Amino acid sequence: MINPALEEFEEIREGVRGLCQNFDAAYWRGVDERKAFPEEFVTAMTEAGWLAAMIPEEYGGSGLGLAEASVILEEVNRAGGNSGTVHGQMYNMFTLLRHGSEEQKQKYLPKLAAGQLRLQSMAVTEPTTGTDTTKIKTTAVRKGDKYIVNGQKVWISRVQHSDLMILLARTTALEEVRRKSDGMSIFIVDLHHAIGNGLTVQPIANMVNHETNELFFDNLEIPAENLIGEEGKGFRYILDGLNAERALIAAECIGDGRWFIEKARKYACAREVFGRPIGKNQGIQFPIAKAHINVEAADLMRWRACEEYDSGRNAGASANMAKYLAAESSWEAANVCMQTHGGFGFANEYDVERKFRETRLYQVAPISTNLILSYVAEHLLELPRSF
Ligand SMILES: Cc1cc2nc3c(=O)[nH]c(=O)nc-3n(C[C@H](O)[C@H](O)[C@H](O)COP(=O)(O)OP(=O)(O)OC[C@H]3O[C@@H](n4cnc5c(N)ncnc54)[C@H](O)[C@@H]3O)c2cc1C
Repeated sequence: MINPALEEFEEIREGVRGLCQNFDAAYWRGVDERKAFPEEFVTAMTEAGWLAAMIPEEYGGSGLGLAEASVILEEVNRAGGNSGTVHGQMYNMFTLLRHGSEEQKQKYLPKLAAGQLRLQSMAVTEPTTGTDTTKIKTTAVRKGDKYIVNGQKVWISRVQHSDLMILLARTTALEEVRRKSDGMSIFIVDLHHAIGNGLTVQPIANMVNHETNELFFDNLEIPAENLIGEEGKGFRYILDGLNAERALIAAECIGDGRWFIEKARKYACAREVFGRPIGKNQGIQFPIAKAHINVEAADLMRWRACEEYDSGRNAGASANMAKYLAAESSWEAANVCMQTHGGFGFANEYDVERKFRETRLYQVAPISTNLILSYVAEHLLELPRSF
């Protein structure tokens, strides 16, 4: 079992905390109010090398494991920041690393590690298919040395602040494949070339400060050499990266949960009503204590997932359960923190309402809670398949 108190984790925690001190609550509140992208924060994380943590050393990264990467994102959220602005760079490169050709890895990974390129975006979700990914309608048709892409995607994040994007599209029609998960492929898209040349990006106004977009593909041409791995196997490649993504999101939620609990604890000690601190009332204490217990329990599952992943074992069950427990517990902690603050929880200057909105996302994206329950029911408990 990983020991979370390992010295190397402490070094990472201290390093990330140090960086985050330059991006305090006022910074995050400011970008949230302006609905601006935290460009300075993303640049600082890139320049410090944190986003290249999992890129192997031979390509210029640090060659660290999922456990270390998860600590980095946890600390950002624990410090009051939002890892949603950078996490794509960490997990999108898995696809390239695991399934890209040596030529593709040489072309992109050293530049990603050096911060010269950003691979912050992955386009999977579509407006008419939602979670039922095998029904995607975006097509990529091979014509000579190119693929021609047509279709639509929705909720595709950080496209306006990325150089590259991973795209999932159907290369063989659903009716022509043996298994519905066959016939989809993934491509690396050069966004600077694509936007205005067959790709239109329409921002979606939303409840968090999260740059996310609708994408319209109209005969976008992608060089055939940008196909990652084998044609038709893209869905499996995407699934392959999801366990790491889930463990990382779990760590972000744990960071959020700890931020909410500490914020609630401090306020409960300081705020006096009826001539005594509100924290003296067990009606205030117990929900905070319960939320703390649940965050700590989720953390144990997060370490299990990281350990399995880093030792090459199948982390599917643990990563899904860690994501479920962590997202539930951070949301519980958010509610408790809001309630503890009474009316002041609604005031922007306390940051509770901002973090409350931010952590709520993880009940829905990148995978909704119901879909994790369905995975556990079907794959771990062997209950009858429901869809
Ligand atoms: C801010 C934000 C950023 C995002 N970023 C990206 C991104 O970068 N790239 C990307 O590809 N996608 C992204 N997404 C999309 C996200 O992954 C999806 O929203 C999510 O997977 C759910 O899909 P959906 O919204 O189509 O919901 P739907 O599939 O329409 O589902 C709606 C609800 O019904 C439930 N449901 C559906 N089917 C079942 C069932 N059989 N049993 C029980 N419940 C069911 C779901 O759990 C959900 O609660 C983002 C979403 C948001 C909100």
